[in-house]
Amino acid sequence: MDYPRIIKGRLDSFRVKPNIPDYQKMRDNFRWEEISSELAWFDNEHINIGHVAADAHLETDRRNKKALIWESQRGEVEEFTFANLAKLSNKFANILVNEAGVLRGDRVFFFLERVPEIFVGILGTLKAGAVFGPLFSAFGPDAVRDRLFDSKAKVLVTSPSLKRKIAEIIPGLPNLEKIIVVNRKNDVLDADDLSYEAAMERASENFQTVHTNKEDYAIMHYTSGTTGKPKGAVHVHNAVIGHYATAKYVLDLHSDDIYWCTADPGWVTGTSYGMFGPWSNGITQFVYEGVFSARQWYKMLEKWKVTVWYTAPTAIRMLMKAGDDLPGKFDLNSVRHVCSVGEPLNPEAVMWGERVLGKSIHDNWWQTETGSIMIANYAIQDIKPGSMGRPFPGITAGIIDDNFDELPAGQEGNLAVRTGWPSMFRTYWGKHDLYQSRFKKGWYITGDRARTDDEGYFHFISRADDVINSAGHKVGPFEVESVLMEHPAVAEAGVIGKPDPITTEVIKAFVSLKRGFEPGEDLKEDIKRFAMKRLSMAAAPREIDFVDSLPKTRSGKIMRRLLKAKELGLPLGDTSTLEND
Ligand code: AMP
Repeated sequence: MDYPRIIKGRLDSFRVKPNIPDYQKMRDNFRWEEISSELAWFDNEHINIGHVAADAHLETDRRNKKALIWESQRGEVEEFTFANLAKLSNKFANILVNEAGVLRGDRVFFFLERVPEIFVGILGTLKAGAVFGPLFSAFGPDAVRDRLFDSKAKVLVTSPSLKRKIAEIIPGLPNLEKIIVVNRKNDVLDADDLSYEAAMERASENFQTVHTNKEDYAIMHYTSGTTGKPKGAVHVHNAVIGHYATAKYVLDLHSDDIYWCTADPGWVTGTSYGMFGPWSNGITQFVYEGVFSARQWYKMLEKWKVTVWYTAPTAIRMLMKAGDDLPGKFDLNSVRHVCSVGEPLNPEAVMWGERVLGKSIHDNWWQTETGSIMIANYAIQDIKPGSMGRPFPGITAGIIDDNFDELPAGQEGNLAVRTGWPSMFRTYWGKHDLYQSRFKKGWYITGDRARTDDEGYFHFISRADDVINSAGHKVGPFEVESVLMEHPAVAEAGVIGKPDPITTEVIKAFVSLKRGFEPGEDLKEDIKRFAMKRLSMAAAPREIDFVDSLPKTRSGKIMRRLLKAKELGLPLGDTSTLEND
């Protein structure tokens, strides 16, 4: 079905003039150096993201401006100015250096709920010259262990209940020297835990931020691949140029905005755009700790008079499901600009935004590895529902064939980005060969398939690999299969993404059983629970089918493509490498 183009109209029809008044002109004149000069550098080579996001505002009229408004699930509110964030993050940096022995470049990981301490802690870690890595609080012990072990994290910042959840893995982490526990509920702490509250109390509020080199490592986000365990994509302090520029020009942030990014800081969107993008721009952001509820989300938009809202397709589809009448019960007039990322945004969702919310939803595309938005729909530009938009000014994106040569408009191929943008990842932690394999002929190969049209808009087609997109969480099938095989009854497992109208895909596992185990509903449920406890809700199989054996290549690799084709009733394609066919 063809969807009508959403026409944005002339510049003077906008309530607030968009930061990009003319896309083509912006593209023609864009220079990263110019953008970068808007940020607070120590000198030509040295910059620190923590400094740019917090302390840089101290000498400006934003000093006492609210940086963070936080509301808990239970409705408590806490507010922090930029000066508060600067001071608290100094204290945290002092704790790391003086009480946890953290040195420049050490890894400090956060396995914490969406509480203000995670924001303070991350800023403090950066200011101390260490590298932070966030872990989604819904992860189970296996998922946490893999990431802490691989990164050789020296410090873990967590809460009593999350620590209890992963207690079994801690003895197996030889590099972990200190656990800092954020104890909001006044739990009894273990003897060797460092209490965040007590340490903050004694820490000095003065700290000399480390003058990190722009190429020093700063951020580590784990991301899934098809084979092997998740890999740590590493970003440097220079990345903040990308966060800043894209927050300004794609999210279209203006100084008096109230901005809400619904992503958790456990994922890259929750740090690039739930911290560094808005704060490097000196913007007030709202954070809601609670879980999704359509009514509650509309209420938050109304209550905090949110003007710019960055969310995700699964959330939008759940809002759609909650009914067209609901938004009308709230005053959503403050909302000026809505953006979405993480999964394909269906044209129906864009049309719903226009019809029911009275807002255009601006889809954009990027990845953990790219660090910042690469392709976007801009406030000023018409939207073609179903398209991710056009490359950010300063970014060259293309569609290339399997020889890495560019394809003309209209042809499906591999989505690639010309190397060299500021927030490009610099390595996969400990896997530099794998990193290098992602670059060919001056392109970074994204792992997505797409096409362009004759106006240069990009249209997403699919992943090129087996990585599953479950409500925006990227899940590597190998990680799930490995956990399933730890179940005493499972001999082998093959995992695929099965299309789902709300969450893009759900995880489906095909499992063969060890001798002596009988297939049955109880066993299915037991395996599901087993996986949920070790991974997370998004990564655990929603469906399990028992099979006698799994289709494999002659070299023994599970042919997930065949499992998927059979599941969806699609042609099986080339089966020449299948064993026993
Ligand atoms: P992550 O690294 O977890 O941020 O996931 C990045 C992947 O999510 C991309 O490679 C895409 O497969 C998918 N993705 C992100 N944004 C979009 C979008 N706007 N449309 C379609 N897929 C997207």
